[in-house]
Amino acid sequence: MIKSCYIHIPFCNHICSYCDFCKIEYHKCFIDKYLNALEEEIKNTYQGEELETIYIGGGTPSSLDIDELKKLFSILSVLKKSPNVEYTIEGNFESTTKEKLEYYRKVGINRLSFGVESINPNNLSFLNRQEDKKKIEEVLKDAREIGFHNINLDLMYALPMETIDILEQDIDYLLSLKVEHISTYSLIVEDHTLLKINNVQNIDEEKDYEMYELICKKMKDNSYNHYEISNFAKASYESKHNQTYWKNEEYYGFGLGASSYIGNERIENTRSYTKYIENNWIKEKELLSNKDKIEYEIMLNLRMSSGINLDSFALKYQKELKDCYDYQYLVDDKLLCLEENHLFIPENKWYISNEIIVRLLEREVYE
Ligand code: SF4
Repeated sequence: MIKSCYIHIPFCNHICSYCDFCKIEYHKCFIDKYLNALEEEIKNTYQGEELETIYIGGGTPSSLDIDELKKLFSILSVLKKSPNVEYTIEGNFESTTKEKLEYYRKVGINRLSFGVESINPNNLSFLNRQEDKKKIEEVLKDAREIGFHNINLDLMYALPMETIDILEQDIDYLLSLKVEHISTYSLIVEDHTLLKINNVQNIDEEKDYEMYELICKKMKDNSYNHYEISNFAKASYESKHNQTYWKNEEYYGFGLGASSYIGNERIENTRSYTKYIENNWIKEKELLSNKDKIEYEIMLNLRMSSGINLDSFALKYQKELKDCYDYQYLVDDKLLCLEENHLFIPENKWYISNEIIVRLLEREVYE
């Protein structure tokens, strides 16, 4: 049963130098056709399930003006929401106004997520982003007054010229804002980005690790629960929507470049605006075998501090994990922990989680 839904709004007011997401520079003439196609896609695909999480991401959803937002939410009103739905919208501070926040509240949004990334002027100019402390603080004050009690901020680190001191100032600033959730991203220079064209190199692993450690320590010192490799939350404010992905549960993904996991299929939508508005939404479908599903389950579950619940695994796949993969040798090597039937990567080894997962998946014991 599908309980989660992602909606992609690809428009951004300006394009960041590192961005390889599915995005388009905002022009008013693009919006109407896009929203019409989104409406068609939802009508054609959504089966009326009651949703526990809805996440409007981007892009920058707050780049839409108030009338465009009204049209978006009128389209989304067909989605049935559970009484405890977690309903998130992303945005940036620059394009978020009090009027938009009040409107979000009225239509049931109860979680806000903002990209800050950094407040250091050199970092911002490198990332081709604009942030203004005064605007950030004004929007957060308005949001609290309007009644938002669940706010996430994104932090980016590992920029080539960034020092530990600069990172620490960014972390301290984010902490001073006392939000419920902080997501962190290590900068990776991706293909087809301005950074790649300019031949920018990723920082070395040692420095990246030093920065990651600092973030983990400061979050811990400030009572944030490190519940996923890159995510930190105050108690009970862990993102329910993102946990859908990490728990390998099904979800709808609507919009340009969105992906869905429905039944035995992972579906990827087109990144072509032209195709999308002609209602050719789907780019490709991956049909999953049981073995594929189990691999996804392992890779995604092990991102979380709770890891793999071995009882739930056995119930879901009708077989024990130990009959699929030999994990005992990794437990013996202290790269995995087994406690109360949860198999997880200890926090001090999260930095090498990819390596641990690869080693686990190599020890297949299928008959
Ligand atoms: S705001 Fe986000 S989606 Fe838009 S260009 Fe920047 S990183 Fe990409």
